[in-house]
Order: sequence, then structure tokens, then C-alpha cells
Amino acid sequence: MGSESRQLHVFFFPFMAQGHMIPLMDIARLFAARGTKSTIITTPLNALHIAENLDRDKKSGLDIGVQVIPFSAVEAGLPEGCESADSIMTEDMVGNFFKAVGMLQQPFEQLLEEYRPDCVVTDMFLPWTTEAARKYGIPRLVFHGTSYFSQCLTENIKRYAPQKKVTSDSEVFVVSGLPDQIEMTKSQLPSQGDSDNTFAKFKEEIQETEVKSFGVLVNSFYELESSYAEYYTKEMGRRAWHIGPVSRYNSSNIDKAQRGKKSSINEHQCLSWLDSKEPNSVLYVSFGSISRFGAAQLIEIAMGLEASEVPFIWVVRMDKNKEKDIFLPEGFEERMAGKGLIIKDWAPQVLILDHPAVGGFMTHCGWNSTLEGISAGVPLITWPVFAEQFNNEKLVTLVLKIGISAGNKVWNSWIEPRDVSVRKEKIKEVVVQLMGNGEDAEHMRRRARELGEMAKKAVEIGGSSYNDLTALIEELRVNSHQSI
Ligand code: UDP
Repeated sequence: MGSESRQLHVFFFPFMAQGHMIPLMDIARLFAARGTKSTIITTPLNALHIAENLDRDKKSGLDIGVQVIPFSAVEAGLPEGCESADSIMTEDMVGNFFKAVGMLQQPFEQLLEEYRPDCVVTDMFLPWTTEAARKYGIPRLVFHGTSYFSQCLTENIKRYAPQKKVTSDSEVFVVSGLPDQIEMTKSQLPSQGDSDNTFAKFKEEIQETEVKSFGVLVNSFYELESSYAEYYTKEMGRRAWHIGPVSRYNSSNIDKAQRGKKSSINEHQCLSWLDSKEPNSVLYVSFGSISRFGAAQLIEIAMGLEASEVPFIWVVRMDKNKEKDIFLPEGFEERMAGKGLIIKDWAPQVLILDHPAVGGFMTHCGWNSTLEGISAGVPLITWPVFAEQFNNEKLVTLVLKIGISAGNKVWNSWIEPRDVSVRKEKIKEVVVQLMGNGEDAEHMRRRARELGEMAKKAVEIGGSSYNDLTALIEELRVNSHQSI
């Protein structure tokens, strides 16, 4: 067969956390929809979770499959079955989780040896895949799962270290060199800006291998953050392709509803609840797939939502609240009947966000959630907790101006959070402000709607993300042709 018509084979290797697996699965499907053979590399339990979705994809004609590699949880000191970051319950399990992830290198190399794919797209948390792929002459594309903006901000904090010039965690500093004036405090930086901890060293390794790799895949679209896309390539010298929002690949209700885990609520029940509400009247409240709040904070949220009198859907992760509904104030569910829908554990997020009744999203600013909210054209209440979520908050509130901050100013652990960071009075205030008819809210809604339209266009034929993916696939084709 001539190289022109030879099918490209691409490996996709996500880090085992929902916020990383979900978008990379979408990307694997996106590639397959453009004619590549897509193989997802993952561990046994994660493979089980994605099996149903893959079956649907195969039936719809995509050339997509999975290769399962063993995960040595017990050998690394983890409980049996702990194969995803959302099963991590204590701080000391984190190190062991990364140890088990490191043990995936050898089985991954065996797969490279056996299948010799044309390209590997691997998660930033798997930095050793650059070297593994290089051994076999295979290009590695890095998937970060965050925005251009966040990567530029992180880079300039590292370059200019403005946090070292302030005298307290709450003193404001400006991050130099960026297209916009971005102000931050030390309390919003991971581990309060400490550059000596083990994770900071791991991040260095991630950056070094990124520079050596073929390039970076970004789940974003050019029109959203064009000056940062330029900055990233011109000032930071990275090769990058923006191909998002990848969640838009899910066009049917079933795809939207089954993204990630199985929902804890029947999607029809969820949709008919939303159908009964006025357009733009419902606030969707969710803090992502792994962050946890203590009971005291959850009670404040419940009381703040009730006091706002705004209809809401609130997703609460139950892993620490399993035994009883300790987060609910007395009689809360009865009083909220018809007004507030509480989903315990996992919601069909994109299905909800895309419903016309949803008019706002209170989010922890994980990049997937942020971008899903933007794609749905709704303004946001930003409540960052950990990782690079404070960066995403800055993009939303200072650059795009489509959100209001709930006011949390302190980077926190997602595993064992501090008790209360935002009080019920503030929650009520921001909810009423975002969902109300004030001039600022109207302006944010209009701007969010415009960005939502741009997001949709970006992934349509001829759109900026569509074209960037075409260019990338073309380059990979040429590359694989040259290496034959
Ligand atoms: N998600 C979902 N239902 C939930 C919680 C999360 O579908 O109940 C999805 C959400 O749509 C997003 C991902 O899980 O795609 C979470 O990723 P994000 O980057 O927002 O946050 P993380 O979970 O990594 O903190």
C-alpha cells in the first residue's frame, strides 16, 4: 500500500484521573474520526470503565481500540483497585500512586516495540514517555489538559519569580511579560510558591521533556486566547496545536451523558427536570472529579444556594460523606424539592451545561469544566481550589471577563481540604449577582454567549481547531512517510 493511503496509527496514553482521561478519550475519537487508527493505553479498571463508550464508537465506524497494561497498585503500597486519582484518599497515597504510574514504563515500551505506532499522544504526568518514544523514533505529543494562558502564566511566574518579592502570602504582585496585567498572590500558587518540594521538581522534569518532544496538543481554541497562543509559540518556543474544545465532539445525548463515569442520575430524569425550568434560570454547581469539601463547607454551600432562591443543580462527591447526608442542613432536600436538584457523585455535566435552562456555572475552574462552561456559552462563578485552577480563574475573570470570583484566595489540598473558605453570605451574593439582571451580569452573559458561538465554530469544518488538527495529521503523515 502506498504511503499516501497508509493509515496513521496513534497511541493515546492518558494519566489515570477523570480530568485527564475524559479529554484524551475525546481526542482519540477525534483523531479516529479523521481516519487514524486510535489505540488507548490504559490499566484494567480504567479499561473496563471506557469499554461501553468504545463499543459505541466502534459501532459508529471509528477505528478505535484499547491496549491494557497492568497497574501494580499493591506493589506500590496502594489498596487493590486504586487505579485512578479519584480513589486517592490520603496525602501519603499520592507518592505511591505516582510510583505505580512510573512502573507503567516497561509495559508501555513493550507496546511500542510490538506495534511501532506513528505517534504517541501522552499525558504531561508521564514525562518518561518522551524518552521511551525517542528510543523507537516515534514522535511524542504532550497533552497538558490546560489552557495556553495557564501555561504562559506558570512559565512567567517561574521566569520572573514575582512571588519572591512580596512579604506576605496575601500581598498582590503582577506577573511580568504577559499580554495582560495579571495580578496574583502567593496564597494562590501551588504549595504557596514553594519551589523545593518534590512536586515542583517533578514539574521541572515535565517541562524538560516537553521541550524535547514533538509538540504540545492544547484543548483550547485560537479565538479564546489568541495572544497567549502566540506567546506560547513565539516567546516560549513551543510547537503547539489547538484542537478544542474537545468536549464538542460529543454531539448526541448518550455521548454527553456517558462521558467519564456512569451518571448517578438517569439522563432523562435530569433533562425533564431542566425542561421544566425557564431558559437561563438554573445555576449548575460542580467542583470537578476529585476535589472534596468538608462537611462545614458543604453546609455553607447548601445554605448559600437556598438563600439565593435561584434554581440549581448541585453535584456533591460522596466519598467522605458516604454513611449519611451530613452535608445537608435539616430538611434541606424537602424544602428544595422542585427548586434544587442534588446529584450525589457523578453528573452528566456536558448534557446539563448545554441545556438552555442553564444560565450559570459555579466551578472549581478545572480546565475541562471551564472550557465546557465556555462552550455552553454560560458565565461562571469561579471557585478555584488546587492545581492550576487559580490561573484559569484569572483567565475567566480578568481576560475574558465572563465570571465573578466566589472569593477563595487560598490554594488548597484536594485530598484533605481546610474547612470553610467561602461563607454562605458570599455564596448567596455572587449567585444573585451572576444570575440577576444587573448590567455587569448582562454584559458577562452576552460575552459568554459570543464565546460559546466561537467555540462551536472552531471545531466545525474550516474552523481554527478543525484546521489545526488537519495540519497536525498532515505533518504526522509526512513524518511517518519519511521514517519508513
Ligand atoms: N465531570 C462530569 N461529571 C461530574 C464531575 C466531572 O462529567 O460529576 C467531568 C467534567 O465534565 C470534566 C471532568 O469531569 O470533563 C473534570 O475535569 P476538570 O478539568 O474540570 O476538573 P478535575 O476533575 O480534573 O479537577
